[in-house]
Amino acid sequence: CGIIGYVGYQEAQNLLLDSLHRLEYRGYDSAGIAVLEEGEITIRKKSGRVQELGHLISQQPLKGHLGIGHTRWATHGEVNDTNSHPHIGGDNEVCLVHNGVIENYTSLRKSLKEKGFEFITTTDSEVVAHLLAHEYRRAVSKGGEAGSQKSCLVAIQSTLLQLKGTYGIAVLFRDCPDVMYVARVGSPLVIGIGDHEHFVASDASPLAVHTEEVVYLSDNEIAVLTADDIQIIHRDSGIVDPKIEVLEQTA
Ligand code: GLU
Repeated sequence: CGIIGYVGYQEAQNLLLDSLHRLEYRGYDSAGIAVLEEGEITIRKKSGRVQELGHLISQQPLKGHLGIGHTRWATHGEVNDTNSHPHIGGDNEVCLVHNGVIENYTSLRKSLKEKGFEFITTTDSEVVAHLLAHEYRRAVSKGGEAGSQKSCLVAIQSTLLQLKGTYGIAVLFRDCPDVMYVARVGSPLVIGIGDHEHFVASDASPLAVHTEEVVYLSDNEIAVLTADDIQIIHRDSGIVDPKIEVLEQTA
């Protein structure tokens, strides 16, 4: 239902929580965030209101300057803590939040299970997390450098080619500590351009407090975001120049 992300110099946790509050009007049944720090992905997620997630986080805080978050409107799999996003792929190698519906998730799930991936949720989204882990391992086994942006990008590109349906996703790779990947087909995604920081959200409302400059991601584009860089790659035309637009101030 709503996606958010942050990479920069600020503590991600409170910023992500604040952004989730600003997306609340879209409606949701669960919320969660994940932060990547020192090669470890940590997740806090819960069914219920963002306020309850906030309570959990105040008891078990997360440290780190790179993170993603989600408010869920369940389409596949019941509403519970486990099915809430973010989801883990492989052996904690990948972390994902997803908006939308993966139509071919049953067949993907079957083939990933045959390859040894263990599913702990009943969502369509978890297949994307495991598929990313699988494609990442494949990219590295074919000679790609582990933890490089290139290998992670190849993993995302190969994964997306196998998906049918709609998605906005934000992805963290454990081995790639300073990078956030986002992509979309059908679900909206906006990138906020800051000073040594980047923000991501399903719509501009959580971004307006941080920056006026935004880039609206188009269908079939992937954005690779670090604190200082933004690179956009289109499925067919390759690297494209980010088209920066200025948000109109409403206040
Ligand atoms: N299909 C996914 C799920 O049910 C994502 C739903 C959403 O967009 O919030 O978990």
